[in-house]
Amino acid sequence: MNQILEFRQTFPEEGLLSNLFHDDHEAARLSVLESYEILDSAPEKSYDDVARLAAYVCATPIALVSFFGGARQWVKARFHTALFAEKPLDLPCQGFLEALSTEQGQVLQVPDIALDNRFTGHHLLQGSLKLRFYASAPLYSPAGELIGSLSVFDKRSRALATEQVVALLTLARQIMELLEMRRTLIGLSDANAKLGQQNLTDALTGIPNRRAYDQKLTEEFSRAKRTGAPLSLLLIDIDNFKQYNDTFGHPAGDGALQSVARVLMSSLRPYDFLARYGGEEFVIILPSTDLSDALVVAERVRGLVAGSEFPHRKFTISVGVSRLDIEAGPRALIQAADNGLYRAKAAGRNKVVMGKLNDNSPAGSATP
Ligand code: GH3
Ligand code: MG
Ligand code: MG
Repeated sequence: MNQILEFRQTFPEEGLLSNLFHDDHEAARLSVLESYEILDSAPEKSYDDVARLAAYVCATPIALVSFFGGARQWVKARFHTALFAEKPLDLPCQGFLEALSTEQGQVLQVPDIALDNRFTGHHLLQGSLKLRFYASAPLYSPAGELIGSLSVFDKRSRALATEQVVALLTLARQIMELLEMRRTLIGLSDANAKLGQQNLTDALTGIPNRRAYDQKLTEEFSRAKRTGAPLSLLLIDIDNFKQYNDTFGHPAGDGALQSVARVLMSSLRPYDFLARYGGEEFVIILPSTDLSDALVVAERVRGLVAGSEFPHRKFTISVGVSRLDIEAGPRALIQAADNGLYRAKAAGRNKVVMGKLNDNSPAGSATP
């Protein structure tokens, strides 16, 4: 680390930067910063507060919380007094970062930049900024990677008192606590998202489960109600599946269910939604699809399954089709499809039948 951060007598900063950033630790540093998701994050009060406190305790007009990532120094939080209100506070102070060769637990102090030949000609000494004093507490990750700094600047030459050094180091530790908390929260929210996804996925087939179907149907019902677009549904049941289980065993039945789910999945249009409704039953929600088109889709799906090869023997499915009646609500959609399915079975299986809510008539458009 010392060798990486070793000071050079001369600038340009690019040289210094490349020395700092193109080292063996670059990848490790970036990966730590990525785990915190801190680079390019929005301003946050907790970091602003730390910068403000650093400026207060050190009695400096400027304080910065910055991170070194991807060949740049990125400022997360900055505090400045009115003295610098109109000055460009995007301090291009990368050159100073080189000075962070300090060990963990130490603060770098440059009492007078103007008298320090390491900073000769540096832009911070010129123009309107004319900064003289610089002190910086390095931010080290728990694994020991230098990832950033908490820095203070002043316009006059000076030094920090011992208590101020201790306070700056304490605040630097607070930043690391904030970052660690941030990483924990990121982990929790990732785990939550994963859990949510698991809760909506059928463990055997990997397709959405009944709960996901319920959610999707609620969404699509609201959309249909709002837009007036049609909404249709297919309820699918594998024919004589018990017999398959009884003949080839339950594990083979499980494999067959996975294969059928794959075939059904392959038959979908991008906006169709397939779920395992339960047991050997599947459901497909067809948004913006009228009954005539739904019957065409159902017939295509039925034909696809009937024409597919599965282990041991072929499979057929029976399909009940329904179209949403807004007045009757979403539950009526599955009820009507179930009526159609019942009729498809009664008509000999491997058929598509349109279902009605109050179904007393003989099976209608059964195929083939
Ligand atoms: P039908 O043509 O009338 O639908 O006859 P069927 O045999 O398919 O219908 P039935 O309801 O009598 O049997 C469904 C079978 O599906 C019974 C059950 O063991 C099987 N099944 C349901 N879920 C699973 C599962 O997760 N794995 C396996 N292997 N079998 C399952
Ligand atoms: Mg069944
Ligand atoms: Mg069945």
